[in-house]
Amino acid sequence: MRLILLGPPGAGKGTQALRLVAKYGIVQLSTGDMLRAAVKAGTPIGLQAKEIMASGGLVPDNVVVGIVGQRIEQPDARKGFILDGFPRTVPQAAALDHMLASRGIALDAVIELRVDEDALLRRIETRVAQMKERGEPLREDDRPEVLRKRLSAYREQTAPLIAYYRQQGVLHTLNGMAPIADVSAAIDQVLSSDQPVTRVHEAEDKKKSEELRS
Ligand code: ADP
Repeated sequence: MRLILLGPPGAGKGTQALRLVAKYGIVQLSTGDMLRAAVKAGTPIGLQAKEIMASGGLVPDNVVVGIVGQRIEQPDARKGFILDGFPRTVPQAAALDHMLASRGIALDAVIELRVDEDALLRRIETRVAQMKERGEPLREDDRPEVLRKRLSAYREQTAPLIAYYRQQGVLHTLNGMAPIADVSAAIDQVLSSDQPVTRVHEAEDKKKSEELRS
């Protein structure tokens, strides 16, 4: 099974990815985790990514495409994978299409977790408070002003992927505001059925893109 989880920071992609890993025995490929590991190890990629990540911007496409390309070649990714945090731009999505096509494989589903921004800010504040309580080190990019920049990067550069994958007929949009167990159940339903694309938010998206054009 090959999946993409799509959604802004704090939408719950990581939580769902971990559950799916356990349930389907496939690997989670999080470009955020890979880049943080590179920063920690001080590799050339890490050095290049460090400042960009701390400011909430996006690391250049060629860098992330390179690391994902290498990662999906690894034996543990053969059975399938969940991409979490990749692709984040249309050029990344096009590069992924190319990578998959050249290996003769296809995506099974792209799952969009849709949430509203105020709720996201609150969720992340809660996550930060809980981590502080547990004495865990905080992520530098969880500061409020950086988070706002991450959200605008999502809106401007990643949200266009919703239309991109809808066109490919693989998009499923779920309500990420529902309780975790409900989101899990909705994902399981998507993955167990051969139903065509869900079109819940299509009218809404169409309206938004018309507004943007005018
Ligand atoms: P989030 O919690 O925002 O989903 P991630 O852990 O996925 O964050 O990523 C953290 C940071 O790593 C991003 O803000 C960005 O700077 C960088 N990053 C991760 N994945 C990508 C990607 N596919 N393209 C560009 N930059 C990325």
